Amino acid sequence: MRRAHVAAVIGVLLLLGTVVAAGCSSSVEVPNVRRLSLAEAKRALAERNLKAEVSSELLDDQVPKGYVVEQKPAAGEIVDGDTVVSLAISAGSSGVTVPSVVGKDVEQATSELNSLGLQVRVLKTTSSEPSGTVISQSPGAGATATPDSKVDLTVAANLGTTEPTATPTPAPSTSSLVSGLVVIDPGHQARGNNEPEPIGPGSSETKPKVASGATGVVTRRPEYATNLEISLKLRSYLQSRNVKVMMVRTSNDVNISNSERAQFANRAHADLFVRIHCDSSENSGVNGIRTFYPPNGGWTTAISAKSELAATIVQQRAASSSHLKNLGTNVHTNQTGFNWSKVPVILVECGFFSNPSDDRLLNSPSSQQAIAKGIGQGVVEYLRRTK
Ligand SMILES: [Zn+2]
Repeated sequence: MRRAHVAAVIGVLLLLGTVVAAGCSSSVEVPNVRRLSLAEAKRALAERNLKAEVSSELLDDQVPKGYVVEQKPAAGEIVDGDTVVSLAISAGSSGVTVPSVVGKDVEQATSELNSLGLQVRVLKTTSSEPSGTVISQSPGAGATATPDSKVDLTVAANLGTTEPTATPTPAPSTSSLVSGLVVIDPGHQARGNNEPEPIGPGSSETKPKVASGATGVVTRRPEYATNLEISLKLRSYLQSRNVKVMMVRTSNDVNISNSERAQFANRAHADLFVRIHCDSSENSGVNGIRTFYPPNGGWTTAISAKSELAATIVQQRAASSSHLKNLGTNVHTNQTGFNWSKVPVILVECGFFSNPSDDRLLNSPSSQQAIAKGIGQGVVEYLRRTK
C-alpha cells in the first residue's frame, strides 16, 4: 500500500513537472502574416513574442504596396520566443514586361508601349536607318516596368542634327484607355477550407471559408483552374486598356478565405472587385452566363447601386462577346465575399459546368478569351461612367 502510495505521489509530481515545464516553454508557433500590412504583421508577431524585420521589398501585383508578401520562418513553424521573423514587403504592382520595339516604326512602338500603360519619350538622332525607325530603347526588352514609367526611344530622324531632342509624348492614340484599379478574384482554390468564418463583419452566422468549386461534367476540369485561366485573360485585357489590376491569386495552391479576398479588395481601394466563377446545377440542361451583385440592405447598402450598375454593363458585354446564353443579373444575399466588401463588387458566373455545351466553352482557350474580353469591355465602360 505504502509503496504504491509513494509511487503515485512521484507520478503526480512528474506529471506536474512536465505540465509546468511545457507552460514555461518559450516555444511559439509562427503566425501567418502574409498579406497583412507591416503594422498588422508586427502586432501579430509581437503578440507571440516574435520580432519583425523587413528583409526586402518585392514588386508584386498580387499584394498591395506595404503589405507582407513572404515571411521566414513560415507560418506554423515552431520557434523560440524572440525569434526574428524576416518579412518581404510588396513595393507595389510589378506592372509590365517591356517588349522589344527596336526596328519598329516609332508610331507603332509608341502605341504598343502606351497600350501597356507605359509612357514614351522620343529622342531623335541621325542614322542610316529609315526615318522614324526605333534604333534603341531604354529600359530594354524584358525589363519589368511599373505602370506609368517612361521608356526612352532613340529614333532615326534624318534632320541634319546629331543633337538629341526630346519631343512631347504623343497622346495615346486610342480612346479606349481608362484609369482605375480592379481587383480580380479567381473563385475557389485547389483545396477547399471548411473552417467557419463569419458571413459578414460582426456576424455570428458562419460559412466555410472557401470551397474548391464545381467539376466539368464533360471535361472533368476543376472550376478553380478555369476561373484562374479566365481571370488571367481578363487581367491582360484590362492592362491593355491602362487599367491597373491586382489579383487575389495567380496560383491554385493557395489558402485564402472569401472574407480575406474581399478585405484584400478593400485594402487595395479597388474601383471594382470582380469575382470570377462558373456555375453548377442539378439540371444539366440549364446553361448560360449571369452576374450577381450585393443587395441594397445590411452590410452592402453603400455599394449595392454601383455594383448593380457594374453587373448590368458587364453581363450585357460578356453575354454578347461569348456564345453563352444571357441569363441576366440578379441580387445575391448572404455571400461572404459580398458582405465583407466595402468596394463595388460583382460575381460573374461564366456558364454552367454541369451543362455539356457550357463546360466545353468554358474550357476552350478561345472561348475563355471571348468571355474575358466581354467582361473587360464591361469593366472599362463601368470605370469610364463612374470615375
Ligand atoms: Zn464557384
